[in-house]
Amino acid sequence: MDKIWLSSPHMGGEEQRFIKEAFDANWIAPLGPNVTGFEQDLERYLGNDVHVAALSSGTAALHLALILIGVKQGDEVICQSMTFSASANPIVYQGATPIFVDSEPDTWNMSPQFLEEAIKDRIKKGKRPKAIIAVHLYGMPYKVNEIRAIADTYDIPIIEDSAEALGSSCNGQKCGTFGDYAILSFNGNKIITTSGGGALVTKTEEAKQKAIFLATQARDAAPHYQHSHIGYNYRLSNIAAGIGRGQMLVLDEHVALRRKMNAFYQEVFEDIDEVSVLTELDDASYSNHWLTAIVFGRVIARKVDREYLRLGLEKEHIESRPLWKPMHLQPVFSECPYYGEKVSETLFDQGLCLPSGSNTTKEQLERIKNALIGIISAV
Ligand SMILES: *Cc1c(COP(=O)(O)O)cnc(C)c1O
Repeated sequence: MDKIWLSSPHMGGEEQRFIKEAFDANWIAPLGPNVTGFEQDLERYLGNDVHVAALSSGTAALHLALILIGVKQGDEVICQSMTFSASANPIVYQGATPIFVDSEPDTWNMSPQFLEEAIKDRIKKGKRPKAIIAVHLYGMPYKVNEIRAIADTYDIPIIEDSAEALGSSCNGQKCGTFGDYAILSFNGNKIITTSGGGALVTKTEEAKQKAIFLATQARDAAPHYQHSHIGYNYRLSNIAAGIGRGQMLVLDEHVALRRKMNAFYQEVFEDIDEVSVLTELDDASYSNHWLTAIVFGRVIARKVDREYLRLGLEKEHIESRPLWKPMHLQPVFSECPYYGEKVSETLFDQGLCLPSGSNTTKEQLERIKNALIGIISAV
């Protein structure tokens, strides 16, 4: 039996043409026509006059966003607790402290209420947070208007972690254009992949150029190697960008397929009251449904919980995964302040991500459906 993965690379077919062009022109370097072309593709796709710098990873993009904002040793940065560790790690690269904020129950993203509580309390304790990192988890847009209103009230820039949300939108505006800076990821399991890569989205060409300067070892304009800043090696390669250009041609198609996966799971669980599928609350919000996730509201029978289902699927060679474990519960961040209740903690206890790939076949869908119903109804 072949394994059904949570999310695996799905090539469109044109990727190798762009790679071949790079080989033919001997552009095997962290710059070149594919890099520029991929950036232009992304700028066009996102709209809203944004500028895009293609980088080696989403993590690198977050790191550069913090540097451009001016986050330094001893500063504090607010970050959604329920996310992948890559959202928070770059805060520590800068010697700053993450301040974690709980999720809200409907989008699973940053709670506006606890965000404001955190800002007020940090200011009272003597430090104004330098930035807010908000995440569109699993492709579901966070409450963009509410979070923006709070950020503006306290004059704190937003870094929009859109690593999982390329193709999502809110009131017709693409995710990746709401933050003062935004980041994208093209890692192997994301909605499109370059085998590894990311991008920083900026509001100005000047900020983009600064990011590229820092990403290419901060070399001053001189015939010799002259440096007045600490630099990084964070640029995307021309080969990887070639894969990205090919993937851009099928992005919307892949989003449509992932959304179909979400509709499929809604149907599977339609008559199972205890399970709910994460989906949009209203028409304003449009998720790429990078991963479809479910939560067990109430335990169906004593035996059926997240782990029971996960292990049952594993026996059928179907990969599933618990939701992101909140950062405030991670040993490495145990000393960091946290604002919230137990929303993200409860989601982590009860939630499971299900196979959501845009390349899932009809036969695989049938296998997934039979396995889910079989496991749950056998109890
Ligand atoms: C994947 C991911 C990142 C990091 O992206 P990389 O390209 O893997 O460095 C950051 N934030 C979130 C929420 C992610 O899922």
